[in-house]
Amino acid sequence: MGKKQPNRNDLPLHKIIMVGSGGVGKSALTLQYMYGDFIEEYDPTKADSYRKKVVLNSGGTQTECFIDILDTAGQEEYAAIRDNYYRSGEGFLCVFSICEQESFAHTQEFRDQICRVLDDEEVPFVLVGNKADLAHLRKVQPREGEAKAREWGCPYIETSAKTRQNVEEAYQMLMSKIRDRKEAKGGGKSAGGGKAKKGCLIL
Ligand code: GDP
Repeated sequence: MGKKQPNRNDLPLHKIIMVGSGGVGKSALTLQYMYGDFIEEYDPTKADSYRKKVVLNSGGTQTECFIDILDTAGQEEYAAIRDNYYRSGEGFLCVFSICEQESFAHTQEFRDQICRVLDDEEVPFVLVGNKADLAHLRKVQPREGEAKAREWGCPYIETSAKTRQNVEEAYQMLMSKIRDRKEAKGGGKSAGGGKAKKGCLIL
């Protein structure tokens, strides 16, 4: 009772970029997370961004924040556009399909490009093996995903945009990493563009 609600503009904003080969389910995951729906067909050439107010569960606490998701598409072969996208991100969901070896191999290229553009090996990252519902078509074993994630020092999670398996968890995991990093660095931007009030010490 009497707990003051933070002004929506004071809430922290966490910016996530979806990367991965075409057809692995970046849009399906984003739309499932945003709207709780599985969309079978989505224009694969469109890069779209989404914003939603969410509750971040981490370390036993719950905090409200905004999440921005940039769902990248195909036109990033223009290196300048792609690099600008990467620079606007605070964390990356790097997605492959467990049914397609090539998409798994490609994750290394995305990782290398991102680390190079940001000049940062510690950038918040989660490796996502999507289409886990298609177990009978599996080509990439969980231990392969886990080994790569260990190499990169990030978590590995298997999801299904179709059944919603681990979809919430993948975004929550990445947001916690972004939040922890901002706290370690002394706070980040709020949704209103000012300094976020939550999670930073004001002296
Ligand atoms: P994107 O190019 O990475 O954004 O991939 P899309 O989200 O457009 O998905 C490509 C195709 O895979 C679409 O036909 C989706 O319906 C399908 N798809 C995406 N995620 C899943 C999933 O988790 N399970 C299944 N069975 N199909 C999926």
